[in-house]
Amino acid sequence: SEEMLLRSEKLSVVGQLAAGIAHEIRNPLTTLKGFLQLVAKQPESGPKYADIMSTEIERISRITNELLAVARPQFSEFQSTPVEQIVTRVYDLFHSEALMQGIVMEMHLQDEGAMVLCEADRIHQVLVNLIKNAMDAVTGGGRVYLSTWVDADKVYIRVRDTGIGMDATTLEHVGEPFYTTKSGGTGLGVMVCQRIVQSHGGCIEWDSKVGEGTTVTMNLPLHMLGNHA
Ligand code: ADP
Repeated sequence: SEEMLLRSEKLSVVGQLAAGIAHEIRNPLTTLKGFLQLVAKQPESGPKYADIMSTEIERISRITNELLAVARPQFSEFQSTPVEQIVTRVYDLFHSEALMQGIVMEMHLQDEGAMVLCEADRIHQVLVNLIKNAMDAVTGGGRVYLSTWVDADKVYIRVRDTGIGMDATTLEHVGEPFYTTKSGGTGLGVMVCQRIVQSHGGCIEWDSKVGEGTTVTMNLPLHMLGNHA
């Protein structure tokens, strides 16, 4: 039946994820084991390999942190939150660091007072992931725009960058667990964003052109327009 089909599809997604996690964690573990064996034989080589080993440990720790963000059970509390509060907080967090990297970050808030029923920390995390990706994509002189507006019963939040963009293959695979084109990437950021936005009853989509940049647009159900309530 249709329901059975749906259920088996869900299971295979979990299975896929588990296989991916196993693979992604086994690789750095294998590297660590190899270097530990080396150091055991030649203790004087310890300092030489310490950097590589700590990089691998950091990688495992990044992966587990990002997975915990989606694995956390939903005992969460949804609260009516002004969208500008979430966006401003993340803008304040990043815009000076961006400037130091030669990246101009701008924020445009429309319809101030728009409220969303959400777990603010989760939505904050979505925006952090999106802005990090945007900053990875632009080099000096690039721009990152943060904007929000309301249309009908939805609040829109957009992160746009003038960075390297994505080719068709990347656009097709973005959001698949562990799909990354970065040497230090985990390939989990986009998946985490999608899960969080979906769990809030919203949508998120990526639009991109190589050499021109990427636009990520998410919408969340409008809870109320605070100013007019
Ligand atoms: P990671 O950043 O660790 O690679 P993500 O899931 O956040 O993991 O992103 C997956 C891939 O999607 C990235 O490696 C990159 O190729 C592509 N991507 C995501 N956001 C952008 C962006 N703003 N500009 C260009 N490419 C992007």
